[in-house]
Amino acid sequence: MRDKASFNFAGKTVLVTGAAKGIGAAIAEQFVSYGANVVLADVDEQGEAAAAGWRQSGRSARFIRCDVSRGSEVVKTVAYAEQEFGGLDILVNNAGIFPRARLAETDEAFWDRVMDINLKGAYLMCQAAVPGMIRRGGGNIVNIGSLHAASGAPDTLAYAISKGGIVTLTRNLASTLARQGVRVNCIHPGWVASDGEMARLAATGEGGDSLEKAISRMPMGRMQTGDDIASAVIFMTSDFADQITGQQLTVDGGISLR
Ligand code: NAD
Repeated sequence: MRDKASFNFAGKTVLVTGAAKGIGAAIAEQFVSYGANVVLADVDEQGEAAAAGWRQSGRSARFIRCDVSRGSEVVKTVAYAEQEFGGLDILVNNAGIFPRARLAETDEAFWDRVMDINLKGAYLMCQAAVPGMIRRGGGNIVNIGSLHAASGAPDTLAYAISKGGIVTLTRNLASTLARQGVRVNCIHPGWVASDGEMARLAATGEGGDSLEKAISRMPMGRMQTGDDIASAVIFMTSDFADQITGQQLTVDGGISLR
């Protein structure tokens, strides 16, 4: 039987992309609270303030500026995590953007930007991180997906396809890397009140009363929090999940049941 020490991440090094805000910040914070060495990677340098605050309270946290869509920055970021803490155990591919557009409004530049950040960024990160994980005898990758990967909502064409690609990347790498001790899983958040999503709702006028109405129709009566998603990431990367690979875990308060 596993003991509570399975949720002890002391001595483990975790790299979280898109960790300056929103879900990524919550994931980084939970890993810090479980004793991990955490590297926050983001284009937004606001992540430095969080890392500095945790260092002041005796935790191991670093920030590095990284645009996940640029191969050279990704390689530098993984090397930084490995050098700072002696190796990388866990990679969380969370960085993402969620611009909406239907087919007719999706021009080539829009398509490329969504794919570059949401999908190519995850592939580049995996490619840079996996050799070190294999040398260490194993590791864990969690890719943050979305219900849109399977929803068919017409106004999220490029986004949905990028997240569909994340599911395929997860399954493909899980199968390739199983024998080398690297587990790869995907977590689909439902509707999370993250910094990015709340800003989007305010900008599009979807907040206020219409948001309240939408929430009241949700099976469990609330949006998810970054912490809800972070808890699933902690489980997936813990020893409790050591026979789980190539899987998708949905954390949506039942939204997808409707
Ligand atoms: P957010 O906008 O609050 O945070 C995203 C973070 O990613 C930001 O800090 C941003 O600076 C960073 N980022 C953007 N482009 C980057 C790049 N090129 N390189 C590095 N960092 C970059 O968004 P969020 O809601 O916390 O979303 C996080 C992830 O969760 C995304 O992959 C998103 O698709 C997914 N998701 C969110 C929801 C939701 O309801 N909020 C639902 C399903 C999936």
